Amino acid sequence: MKRDPTKQLFEAVTNAYDVYELIAVLGTDLLPFVERLSPPVAAQSVLADLVGVIESILEEVEVSPSDLEALRSVAVLLAERGIPDVATALHLWLRRHELLSTNPQRDCGSEFDLVRFDCACGTRSWATAWKVVNATYRPDLQERVQGGTIFPSCSGCGTQYYAPLFYCDPDRGEYLLFAPGVDEEEFKSLLDAAMGYIQHVPADLRRNVSNSGYYQGFPGPWLGPIDDFAAIFRVDSLELLHEIVTEDLIYDAQASQVNLEAYGLGVHAREAVERGAMGEAARLFARLFLTDQSQFNVLHEIGSCLRAAGDAASGDFLTDAAMRLREKLRAEKVVYDGRASNRYPSPSPAVIVEIWGRGLPAEWGYEAVVARVREVADGSP
Ligand SMILES: [Zn+2]
Repeated sequence: MKRDPTKQLFEAVTNAYDVYELIAVLGTDLLPFVERLSPPVAAQSVLADLVGVIESILEEVEVSPSDLEALRSVAVLLAERGIPDVATALHLWLRRHELLSTNPQRDCGSEFDLVRFDCACGTRSWATAWKVVNATYRPDLQERVQGGTIFPSCSGCGTQYYAPLFYCDPDRGEYLLFAPGVDEEEFKSLLDAAMGYIQHVPADLRRNVSNSGYYQGFPGPWLGPIDDFAAIFRVDSLELLHEIVTEDLIYDAQASQVNLEAYGLGVHAREAVERGAMGEAARLFARLFLTDQSQFNVLHEIGSCLRAAGDAASGDFLTDAAMRLREKLRAEKVVYDGRASNRYPSPSPAVIVEIWGRGLPAEWGYEAVVARVREVADGSP
């Protein structure tokens, strides 16, 4: 379905993240729109003036007060001379410009070059060549990476051009260097730039990881065991890029023992919660936890049930223990975030087998917690 070009232009203007992107919109969206018009004679010289103002703004990558004045008067003239869409786009643009200049957006850690290139079809296009996309505060850019529309394309024929892109989605543990067809030397300099980026970007834009490294030949990415680590992977094809950035992730995954007793306890515990029998639910969840002490989420349930049953002190104690246990298990690589396809290796550390056999290791300091759970399981108050 072809999208309405006018609507598309208005959206591009109103969604521009910062002043720099708003300036780029003049070249990537407004100019091609103006070029496709068949204007009445009365509007032609005004449109020519507009193109001149835009070219000078793009050249300088800066908007002067006289540029703003010029855009304002062009908007008024175009409305009078039968080009209302462009007039409206300019008014929206000026309003957005004022808003973004007075209320700057927070750093989103994404960078692009505004480039002008000659396409084989004969069109000269302005385009945004993204060098770094960080998905943290930019779901719009994440969507464009997932949909494959992040790369610059010719405004005439639509042909896409593939420039190297460093894509960071810290929540998914994805640090992808998309660099098809570059030689080793160029790749090394892209990698250095990517590692420098991780080192210097604000902590909230890298999920507080403090280290990064390159994983050669590793069919990643995955996260969880490498919570404190940004593992950078090279991606050489569009297909692989698309596959990685769109695949479902499973958060807080862990290996579990399948057995009938545990299954039954879980079912009955949840039924008890439904009935509001919180003391009984706590007892059943406690028995379930003792079958596999790595189940921090079950520990959490016991805490909630006890609180609901009126024992706030025990409830808080176990809830807090559940949160600490989750962190510990993630650090020990027992709990991890993984990919739904399971095509990438999941860690299976020896400690999980130890937990299944003997319970949580003594040196982790959970004796008091497990003792309290045993009391709950035995039905002691
Ligand atoms: Zn073209």
